[in-house]
Amino acid sequence: MYIQTVGVVGAGVMGIGVAQNLAQTGYQVILVDIYENILDKAKQEIKNNIRFQSFFKKGDCEESPDDIIGKIELSTSYKILEKADFVVENVTEKWDIKREVYPLLESICPADCIFAANTSAIPITRIASITKRADRVIGIHFMNPVPMKPIVEMIRGHHTSDTTIEIAKKMLAQMGKECIIVNDSPGFVSNRVLMLTINEAVFLLQDQVATAENVDKIFKGCFGHKMGPLETADLIGLDTILFSIEVLYENFNDSKYRPCPLLKKMVDAGLHGRKSGKGFYVYQ
Ligand code: NAD
Repeated sequence: MYIQTVGVVGAGVMGIGVAQNLAQTGYQVILVDIYENILDKAKQEIKNNIRFQSFFKKGDCEESPDDIIGKIELSTSYKILEKADFVVENVTEKWDIKREVYPLLESICPADCIFAANTSAIPITRIASITKRADRVIGIHFMNPVPMKPIVEMIRGHHTSDTTIEIAKKMLAQMGKECIIVNDSPGFVSNRVLMLTINEAVFLLQDQVATAENVDKIFKGCFGHKMGPLETADLIGLDTILFSIEVLYENFNDSKYRPCPLLKKMVDAGLHGRKSGKGFYVYQ
């Protein structure tokens, strides 16, 4: 199966990065969100990112920023996904939101179109169960910022076929990504560990054991991490962190995944990290 046109659903932090990365590596992209203003913002952000990157690139045969941007069609209507060969879903990390999206995709996309869920924690088998194509549903957990991260966590749902995995791997290889394939389980490998770490780091802050700066400094200075857990939380988005921990709590029924009250309070206060301008740190 030849993948030419890729639908990207959800134009937030991840959808923007996935759409940009796809367009820069030869794919036609359809970027869909429910809000016009979010699509306008996404278009501007992609333009800025591509232009910024082009300053640092050399060579005559590369496509111009305008050519790349021209490959991305934006719409608030799912209808244009009828021409998608492959869809990457990046909507809000809430089951009630994601479960509305898949039946819609099912009714519009071609029968052989593959659905990839870019979820932080929701089991892929659960997502596949609300489609009629469980063998063509896969998890692709992209890392943020997408164009700069060379590895993805690929999740094999209970019914995901080998053919689907091969097609997804080929597409990701063209995007410059290596895949690490794991079996399906809430939070997969990365977020089952990372979300607990971040949540516990927020507890440290709530308990006034250390400042955010010092929590992060310990991870960077002592363990050689490039970013501390609270800086990472700001990059991901505190709302996405909270929703992911709630998914883990709900799926495992284990109190170790109870979200820290300070995290909940910050999300209620609109302190969502980089995307809102303020989280554990302040951004301009
Ligand atoms: P976000 O909140 O930045 O963006 C979500 C977008 O989905 C918003 O623009 C919203 O308008 C849109 N949306 C909501 N309902 C929709 C619908 N029915 N149809 C189309 N669009 C809809 O979230 P994000 O950080 O981009 O995360 C998206 C997904 O990627 C989540 O499942 C998240 O867990 C996962 N993820 C996030 C990160 C990260 O670092 N932020 C990393 C890997 C995976």
